[in-house]
Amino acid sequence: MAIVKRKELSIGEKLYLPAIFRGLSMTFRQMFKKRVTRQYPEEPLPVNEVTRGQPRLAVNDDGTIRCVSCGLCEAACPAYAITIDGQETDRFIEREPERFDIDMLRCILCGFCEEACPKDAILMSDELELADFSREALIYDVERLKRPVSQLRPRLDYVYKVNERW
Ligand code: SF4
Ligand code: SF4
Repeated sequence: MAIVKRKELSIGEKLYLPAIFRGLSMTFRQMFKKRVTRQYPEEPLPVNEVTRGQPRLAVNDDGTIRCVSCGLCEAACPAYAITIDGQETDRFIEREPERFDIDMLRCILCGFCEEACPKDAILMSDELELADFSREALIYDVERLKRPVSQLRPRLDYVYKVNERW
């Protein structure tokens, strides 16, 4: 039977002193490095047109909703987060949503709904904050989803620019 000969530890090693000093020196070095921690929410994340935040429904300057209730975004949504019931309208577009809900707890901010929409009616906003006191409150209905198209314009321009590549 082979006998394993272990190295004799010094008193310092028995007291874990090398490891303690290595750890302390590392902590000391980190104290003088530039801090990378963000003090959220006092320091919010920077956002721009590339930010893929929560989806929102675009509303034209005359107050009409762009959505024609075609259901493509609902079909494209991998998280089954969108529920749409359409209704007829006298407007030129003929159909608009009677009900348009997005369950924000399900939404994974993938942007598939934006890509699927033939009317540029649903766009990824720069809104990232999501907090409430109940699950029901985080199912956004059409009124909570509506945003003026002017507010979503930077995102819309970005989407057009990206689509030009194809
Ligand atoms: S961003 Fe993705 S998960 Fe969220 S509603 Fe659109 S398709 Fe569904
Ligand atoms: S948001 Fe776009 S894809 Fe979704 S139902 Fe309305 S028009 Fe169709």
